[in-house]
Amino acid sequence: VKRLVLAGGGHAHVEVLRRFALSRPAGAEVVVVTPEHESPYSGMLPGHLSGFYARDEIFIDVAGLAARCGARFVAARVAGIDASARTVALDDGTRLGYDILSLDIGSTPATGRARGVAEHALALKPIPLFLQGWQRLLLRAERGGMRRVAMVGGGAAGVEVLLSIRHRLLQAPGGDAIQWHLVTDAAELLPAHPPRVRRVFESVFAERGIIVHRSAPVASVQADALVTAGGLSLPADATLWATGASPPAFLRSTGLALDAAGFVEIDATLRSTSHPEVFAAGDVATMRGEPRPKSGVFAVRQGPPLAGNLAAALAGAPLVPYRPQREALALVTTGERYAVASRGRMMVRGAWVWRWKDWIDRRFMARYRG
Ligand SMILES: Cc1cc2nc3c(=O)[nH]c(=O)nc-3n(C[C@H](O)[C@H](O)[C@H](O)COP(=O)(O)OP(=O)(O)OC[C@H]3O[C@@H](n4cnc5c(N)ncnc54)[C@H](O)[C@@H]3O)c2cc1C
Repeated sequence: VKRLVLAGGGHAHVEVLRRFALSRPAGAEVVVVTPEHESPYSGMLPGHLSGFYARDEIFIDVAGLAARCGARFVAARVAGIDASARTVALDDGTRLGYDILSLDIGSTPATGRARGVAEHALALKPIPLFLQGWQRLLLRAERGGMRRVAMVGGGAAGVEVLLSIRHRLLQAPGGDAIQWHLVTDAAELLPAHPPRVRRVFESVFAERGIIVHRSAPVASVQADALVTAGGLSLPADATLWATGASPPAFLRSTGLALDAAGFVEIDATLRSTSHPEVFAAGDVATMRGEPRPKSGVFAVRQGPPLAGNLAAALAGAPLVPYRPQREALALVTTGERYAVASRGRMMVRGAWVWRWKDWIDRRFMARYRG
């Protein structure tokens, strides 16, 4: 019996588990190691913050999926990998051997050289921790303790989350008096999106009086302010952190081949370029020669080929290469039931786009319900 360890309950692994529940790989013991029983679906997080979805609606029951395919569920975090001994070290002090390891453990917002982020800012990831911080922030706002809120990061996550929490806090007493700031090191909002999408959000921000600080990398965060590298000191009762993805730090000492940023380098079969018994998918992986943005869409798309290749590896069968799509549909909401969709140079927007996104997201989540 070969042991397959699935580390992380990310978007690709939930699809692996769903497929293994339909067709169990023969002669294999599957172990799922992830810190929480449930895994959040980030696409619905802004809608949850706006108040449109209950907490349960945005979480996938990973432990339930594991049970459905007869896998052992271990509630722990992988803290290290000894790739030559084929063991993973867990944060509860135990070690687990593997014949095949698959990593789908995501990423966390990059803090760069900024000081005080861990102590004073609320990072968007891990999402379960962010949601605890959000509840505290909501309580403070409802008690009138919030006058200025700053979001650091002008990508889709920062933009959407700022607009969503603003929408929710406008319903709190005194919420309309809160001043909102978005601080980005880029020269514009949504730098990875087409210019037409950028223009829509520039005008949404202007109409709502949200102040955008462009080309302003943050040097430090304090309890009641943030300071940019250019010397701007911005008072803030709460600072949220949503900058680009960074890899888990422990990967550096695993011996696995990594890309320049420290993500696991994989080939077209989703296998480590240095260790053929290690697979990786989602944000934690970068495909050699085919890099893609660290976004959920690509993690979701890797689920089916990952499931196929893990089953093939367990059976000693040949692996099938996979080519990620060049462009993906991007859907960004404005805090209300309104969204902007783009793909390449195409853009559409409206309340109907939000309803379309809602349909896509609910259909995705329905796949993983028991
Ligand atoms: C607010 C927000 C909105 C977003 N909206 C979108 C969107 O609309 N569309 C889109 O395409 N992308 C979106 N993204 C990006 C998206 O969240 C990520 O690209 C996506 O979650 C990556 O999926 P993943 O499977 O790599 O990892 P994740 O979904 O992050 O899952 C990682 C899993 O691994 C577990 N884990 C973490 N560390 C360990 C460890 N050491 N050991 C074991 N388990 C571990 C976690 O608990 C989790 O279960 C958004 C991100 C944010 C922050």
